[in-house]
Amino acid sequence: MKITDLTITLHRWDAPETTYAMPVGGSKQVGVVTIKTDEGVEGHSFLGSASQGADEFAAQVLQRLKPLVMGRNPLDIGAIWGDLWSRNRVVDARSICAVDVALWDIAGKVAGLPIHRLLGTYREKVPAYASSAAMKHPQEYVDEALGFRARGWQAYKIHPNGDPKQDLAICAAVKEAIGDSMVLMLDSMWAYGYEDALRVGLAIQEMDYFWYEDPLAEDDIYGYVKLKQKLNIPILATEYSPGGLYGYTSWILESATDMLRGDVAVKAGITPMLRIAHLAEAFRMKCEIHHGGNSLNNVANLHITMAIPNCDYFEVLQPDSAQKHGLVQDIAVDGEGYVHAPTGPGLGYEIDWDLIERNKIAVLS
Ligand SMILES: [Mg+2]
Repeated sequence: MKITDLTITLHRWDAPETTYAMPVGGSKQVGVVTIKTDEGVEGHSFLGSASQGADEFAAQVLQRLKPLVMGRNPLDIGAIWGDLWSRNRVVDARSICAVDVALWDIAGKVAGLPIHRLLGTYREKVPAYASSAAMKHPQEYVDEALGFRARGWQAYKIHPNGDPKQDLAICAAVKEAIGDSMVLMLDSMWAYGYEDALRVGLAIQEMDYFWYEDPLAEDDIYGYVKLKQKLNIPILATEYSPGGLYGYTSWILESATDMLRGDVAVKAGITPMLRIAHLAEAFRMKCEIHHGGNSLNNVANLHITMAIPNCDYFEVLQPDSAQKHGLVQDIAVDGEGYVHAPTGPGLGYEIDWDLIERNKIAVLS
């Protein structure tokens, strides 16, 4: 089997406007990457998100990565990914991810199996957590958490605004309202210096928060080592740690984080993300997978989550209308707060081609 073409179908998406560490949404171009083969099997992935449109990556994919895959056997994913990663100095991880995910989609379709079966299925459901947007008032977080609890969800994560006092007020208000009826996490999104990170960490430790995510800058290994020595609450860093798969060694060897983190988009595909999770497992560490920014990346993350023992939760970023776009039916959370393993071949979710056709801008090749 040989790869005969790689195209990107760009279409327009008016994404809902919201804020996390930065504002996202508005008029965006998003892309469907299609890898074609001489045997008629096609693999797909989505490029771009409400945060960064596909137009920011399309030239990299077509000019830098497409020449590396043309004529190759699409099932040689390990070899192809190594060649794609060799371009990481000039190509974004999200661009490499888009090619890698489409190759895994082909592999699953060729086998007639969902991707998690090829990775080695470990389970068929996992609890989701609702992961908030940044909002102004503590009461907005309280209302949101109560709403998810009423729908059966088991866990809620706060993305606050980066002011330590306000952030703690939000954490206290949510804890007061929710008590022990949901698992609660805080993701401070790299907002603090060491001193504030320690103050906030000690306070949410007292409130029995489940994990403390990204309080310090993503490359501050020195600060994380100090912080981890002073806190008992588990620290979850490395979501955007530099270096992809190969950047985790220092974090582990220096005991700079309790758990590893990443997702297919920011770590360059299913191939490295699976290896990262296995690396964590060897050290008896959790690897909590981050959301993927777009619907098919989330699906790719879901396949990995079903194939590893060391990820407790599946992240569903809110509002989900800013993350879920382009599928006929997106990942659903059941009435007990679980997401379930995909059952169809490949990625196993149907692309909404009518929607894409109606909003089509161009097919790039
Ligand atoms: Mg995060």
